[in-house]
Amino acid sequence: MNITPLDILNRYYGYTNFRKGQEDIINSIINNNDVLAIMPTGGGKSICYQIPAMVLEGITIVVSPLISLMKDQVDTLKVMGIEAEYINSSLSNSEYEKVLNNIKNDKCKILYVAPERLDSSDFLTVIYDKVVCQVAIDEAHCVSQWGHDFRVSYKKIPYFINNLRNRPIVTAFTATASDEVRKDIVEVLNLNNPKVFISGFDRENLSINIIKSPAKNKYLLDYVKNHENECGIIYASTRKEVENIHDGLLKRGYLVSKYHAGLSNETRKENQEKFINDDIKIMVATNAFGMGIDKPNIRWVIHYNMPQSIENYYQEIGRAGRDGEESECILLFAPQDVHTQKYLVEASIENPQRKIAKYTKLQQMVDLIYTSDCYRKCILDYFGETMEDECNNCSNCLNDGEVVDKTLDAMMVISCIARMKRSYGITMIVDVLRGSKNKKVLELEFDKLSTYGLMKKYSSEDLKNFINTLVSHGFLDIVENLGHRGTFPTIKLNEQSMRVIKKEIKVELKEAKASKSK
Ligand code: ADP
Repeated sequence: MNITPLDILNRYYGYTNFRKGQEDIINSIINNNDVLAIMPTGGGKSICYQIPAMVLEGITIVVSPLISLMKDQVDTLKVMGIEAEYINSSLSNSEYEKVLNNIKNDKCKILYVAPERLDSSDFLTVIYDKVVCQVAIDEAHCVSQWGHDFRVSYKKIPYFINNLRNRPIVTAFTATASDEVRKDIVEVLNLNNPKVFISGFDRENLSINIIKSPAKNKYLLDYVKNHENECGIIYASTRKEVENIHDGLLKRGYLVSKYHAGLSNETRKENQEKFINDDIKIMVATNAFGMGIDKPNIRWVIHYNMPQSIENYYQEIGRAGRDGEESECILLFAPQDVHTQKYLVEASIENPQRKIAKYTKLQQMVDLIYTSDCYRKCILDYFGETMEDECNNCSNCLNDGEVVDKTLDAMMVISCIARMKRSYGITMIVDVLRGSKNKKVLELEFDKLSTYGLMKKYSSEDLKNFINTLVSHGFLDIVENLGHRGTFPTIKLNEQSMRVIKKEIKVELKEAKASKSK
């Protein structure tokens, strides 16, 4: 074998260098290792299984749920001179027969299949007769019940692999970082001592701005006005919110469309195509939009609401700047967003354990918002990738606000929580500290505590922000509790809180300028 992966990259794809991580993954696969690669959307996964497919003897089968993308991927490979095919429900009978024939006649090196196909007998008869060198599973988190996108058809994959003539190299790709999902992938897919790679999460060309409590509509209108010639996505949490934003922009004459699960398949497809083809500039959508979107020139992504997890957030902003050009990601955060997301979790048909897992992810997202550290560093850390220096391209790095000693205020909060004995939710703590005459406060006789009304000078929103900031810096803990009407979070003291009270450590926080401007 004289031709190296780098040669293939240059010759077929026309790229000069591998991105971080790609070459190691490729070499591992070529050297006969199972692989679990965790890479973000747009990170360049395809090359990682396609290049080994060209080097190894036999067929590579790529299992992917993204039916709409298969044709594009296969067309691109064919243009590059690589024998590739796909099988999914969009093929006519005769097209399907043609593909099966090409496989029979060794005219197919890479085959994309939808997971639903893996037990269809005519396909199996043909494929069991061939040497399959690699089964690459795209969006591998779909095997996990813990993932946000579980698909029953993914359960067919291990049976399919077990029945092949020889065991192929099995490679799994996903952008989902959580430990449970990773474990599930390895277990369910039966990966054999896989090499695990976490890479390519850093998207340097994306600036990350999180703005707390802005006037959202005004911000949005000013922004789109100043970026009229650019393509962008506005994500909102609910269909209703999507409709409102969409109608508002349409009324003002913007080239805008919408996407959410309440629209028919046809309308969604039509709207998506209009966006891909630049017929419209702005897409307003719920998180239903975007899986598999490979539009290069998205210059900005605005989150009108906080997303439900860091994974969702990063995947959604990852759709910007796929051409490598500078792109802006802006999250407009209001405390109300947390309630909306909680409501959505509560209203979903999940079992209690899964709901708790979702609340934990939500809390991690909230913690990210309240941190005063480099946002990019925190996000990469969440995905398991370490970053040495600060990025200087996020609103925390670029915020030259002062570092303020908040130890005294933190002590007031902590001692109040300690005096309340049991652990309560943030609203109750804020009520006590602000001296509220709320019925529950009086019933529990919290008005008799020495800390009652101690922080009157704070507005209720600022005090909530402050307590959340203490949580995100680890000075307090949030725990999810299971109650009659679903789960609810309460605040608890931890070791750090005790150290603050004992004056062993100081609480020094950077005053975020953005959170003050209303
Ligand atoms: P995903 O991880 O979402 O499957 P793709 O494999 O589609 O991402 O890659 C995203 C984009 O990055 C594609 O346009 C691809 O051609 C490009 N790309 C991948 N690897 C490289 C590389 N080494 N150099 C330049 N561009 C690359």
